[in-house]
Amino acid sequence: MKLNLNIEPLSNWAPVSNGPLIISGPCSAETEEQLLATARLLKQTGKVHVLRAGIWKPRTRPGEFEGIGAVGLEWLNKAKAETGFPIAVEVANAKHVEEALAAKVDILWIGARSTVNPFTVQEIADALKGVDIPVMVKNPINPDLSLWIGALERINGAGITKIAAIHRGFSSFEKTAFRNEPMWDLAINLKTLLPELPILNDPSHICGSRELIPFISQKALDLDMQGLMIEAHIDPTVAWTDAKQQVTPAALSEIIDGFILRKAES
Ligand code: PEP
Ligand code: MN
Repeated sequence: MKLNLNIEPLSNWAPVSNGPLIISGPCSAETEEQLLATARLLKQTGKVHVLRAGIWKPRTRPGEFEGIGAVGLEWLNKAKAETGFPIAVEVANAKHVEEALAAKVDILWIGARSTVNPFTVQEIADALKGVDIPVMVKNPINPDLSLWIGALERINGAGITKIAAIHRGFSSFEKTAFRNEPMWDLAINLKTLLPELPILNDPSHICGSRELIPFISQKALDLDMQGLMIEAHIDPTVAWTDAKQQVTPAALSEIIDGFILRKAES
């Protein structure tokens, strides 16, 4: 496979000096109060660099909460004004991109259910032509490395050089302890093929339950992944989406305190 991507280092666009980039925030923005309260506590930990929140939610089946929509962009900007966090949202079509850009969102990401569809990724790429914004591309839900690389190529082809991959695990028919099997080899192969590509890990969607998050996070750091996206919520048990896997800001702080940063030690 011949890969020819023009990728900037993470330090060019992410507010991180040494140690992993920590992106956190709720799975979904639910109310202004929920988002602001979560953001405030995340800020107080002193360990988070970027605030995330989903406002357009790709739900597997209809009839569930599908995201608060564009009003969430206003809440995110309020949280940004108060905490100073750069803000990140998932975009799944050209309209999302336009609305996120109009709201001056700092970082975009493409979700696993969008990465699987080259038409969707191309539509997003086309909407990003001529724009200088970081874009993170989650792996597709199925373990297809070419599809992941193809999405990175499409985004890079639109001129986006501030680009990262997020490893969030892969859907599997077999029931295991994980919601999405990590299949670490795929992320390792991606790193081998594109050594300059920053790769982050999303333990929340791999694990599906908060108890496993420290273990998967540590494994990702041991594999030299450059950051973690971990879902946090002011009151995870009553979260409107992904209640089992979100952690409180205090729990997040403890997880981060528990990391063994092998590179820093040597
Ligand atoms: C999310 O980050 O909340 C999300 C929907 O993730 P994924 O695309 O990995 O399922
Ligand atoms: Mn989620």
